[in-house]
Amino acid sequence: MTERIETAGCFCGAIRAECRGEPFWINYDHDDDCRRAIGGPLTVWIGYRPEQFNIVQGMVKTYSKTPGVVRSFCGRCGSSIGYHDDGIPDEQYLTIGFF
Ligand SMILES: [Zn+2]
Repeated sequence: MTERIETAGCFCGAIRAECRGEPFWINYDHDDDCRRAIGGPLTVWIGYRPEQFNIVQGMVKTYSKTPGVVRSFCGRCGSSIGYHDDGIPDEQYLTIGFF
C-alpha cells in the first residue's frame, strides 16, 4: 500500500511542507484566539503527529500569546501555518489553507 503524502505551502511559496500518513484529527475551530490569529471566522485544523510533519523549504516564524502555545506563520506573506501546544506535545495542527 502506498503511503499518503500531502504537500503544503504558504501563499508566497517560501514555506513548503510534507505530511506523511493519515492525519489523526480534522475539525474546525472558531474561538476568539484562532479567529484573530487566522483573520477569518473559522479555520479547519488538520492534526498530525510531529514525526509526520516535515518542513521541506523555508523557515517558519512563530508567535506565542498564551504560554506553551506556539502559532507558526510565513514571515514573508503572513500565511498561518500551524498551532502547537506544549501540553499536548504529540499533536501538531496545520491550517487547511496551508495545504
Ligand atoms: Zn509565504
